[in-house]
Amino acid sequence: MTRSAVVLGAGVVGVCCALALRRRGVAVTLVDRREPGRETSYGNAGVLSRSSITSINGPSLFGKLAGYLGNRHPAVNIGWRRVLTRPGWLLRFLWEARPSQVAARAAALDSITASTVERHRALMEEAGIPDLLRETGTLKLWRSEAGHAQAKAERDFLQAHGVASRVLDRQGISEIEPCLKPIFPAGLLIPSNASVDSPGDVVGAYARLFARLGGRIERADAKAIVRNAGGWRVATDRGDFDADVAVVALGPWSGDLLKPLGLDPKLDVERGYHRHLKPEAGASLSRPIYDVDAAYFMASMAQGLRVTSGVDLSPRDAPDALRQIDGVTRAAREAFPAGEVVGETWRGARPTLPDSLPMIGEAPRNPGLWLAFGNQHIGFTTGPITGEIVAALVCGAAPPVDPEPFSPRRFMA
Ligand SMILES: Cc1cc2nc3c(=O)[nH]c(=O)nc-3n(C[C@H](O)[C@H](O)[C@H](O)COP(=O)(O)OP(=O)(O)OC[C@H]3O[C@@H](n4cnc5c(N)ncnc54)[C@H](O)[C@@H]3O)c2cc1C
Repeated sequence: MTRSAVVLGAGVVGVCCALALRRRGVAVTLVDRREPGRETSYGNAGVLSRSSITSINGPSLFGKLAGYLGNRHPAVNIGWRRVLTRPGWLLRFLWEARPSQVAARAAALDSITASTVERHRALMEEAGIPDLLRETGTLKLWRSEAGHAQAKAERDFLQAHGVASRVLDRQGISEIEPCLKPIFPAGLLIPSNASVDSPGDVVGAYARLFARLGGRIERADAKAIVRNAGGWRVATDRGDFDADVAVVALGPWSGDLLKPLGLDPKLDVERGYHRHLKPEAGASLSRPIYDVDAAYFMASMAQGLRVTSGVDLSPRDAPDALRQIDGVTRAAREAFPAGEVVGETWRGARPTLPDSLPMIGEAPRNPGLWLAFGNQHIGFTTGPITGEIVAALVCGAAPPVDPEPFSPRRFMA
């Protein structure tokens, strides 16, 4: 029986693992070198994306590749140092884009996105922050008439998976978002998506809820995970933490402490940036928009209008590559009456496995060492269910969905 756990990483995934384990009666210590929710989980677009049942490495990627190679498209920036140093990850990522993978991946992603809004709603109510949730959907927008066909194709695909959406023309778009400039002839409204104001604050509130339920939070830099007589020891700069089980939820850093144990989960990152723009007087946005042709999300946040960039395939710790977010800033002003930039440019790194599914389960050959990372573009969306799957498996209970598609064994023997 598992009596104690140390959870490494207090991003949305780690905090949700810690919470779910605590609810099952486990004594949990949550360790992070920063305050909860200050890294990747801080800077995202805050979308609870129930409709994210495809990944960017789907079959349509092959048609776009030529356009991405010259690093002129806003959706992707390819850092050649990464291509040269980790060609294996990129090749596997492309291989996973083949058409035969679409149905299984959509089913797996559907299983972890379907309940996102209800899970976050319940958590936000319990954490005392229900007002940070906006159940107003998301709006995808195209800048040319050709977008109508794409919007309809996406509507049909989503409908086949039980997700309702509505194709809009210029007039329909301006009826629901009157402050947008009339540059979008086609749109797709997805009402079952939702969003939050300030994802970092949401994670902070979830962490306080965990503490209220008796969880322990330690601010410490983890240096090593080692097996000991009773289970696992996490060595940090502030001392050792021992527990029956250890859960690695270190987001983009998850591979670092696993390598010394001989575990290579094939984790890499898709970096991304955000900036905040000040809306002009009286201008507001009721829901996050995604501008398909300029490849950015724009969402209203406590700090201003947050714009987030596409994928920067540079090494995790390489210096900023600002081409995309500079382009996004210009494109956002074409779409919305937004003025000056407020605050600093932020950079984060989406933790991604080559098949764009998270890794959730016990590490091969290491009983009691649990893995919960790789939630790629939808970690905020899928944090709560990831935590519940981990907690159920750790405690020998039935998980809320089939965990097999997320098994660590798909990349490690
Ligand atoms: C630009 C951008 C936009 C995004 N938009 C969305 C969106 O709209 N919706 C959505 O669902 N997802 C979105 N995402 C993805 C989402 O943000 C991530 O999938 C998610 O935040 C990952 O959470 P995590 O808990 O795994 O990682 P993190 O939040 O990074 O947490 C990992 C934690 O581990 C800690 N840590 C690391 N190393 C150590 C160590 N050695 N010792 C102690 N602590 C350590 C870090 O301090 C950090 O707190 C976006 C991502 C980006 C970059």
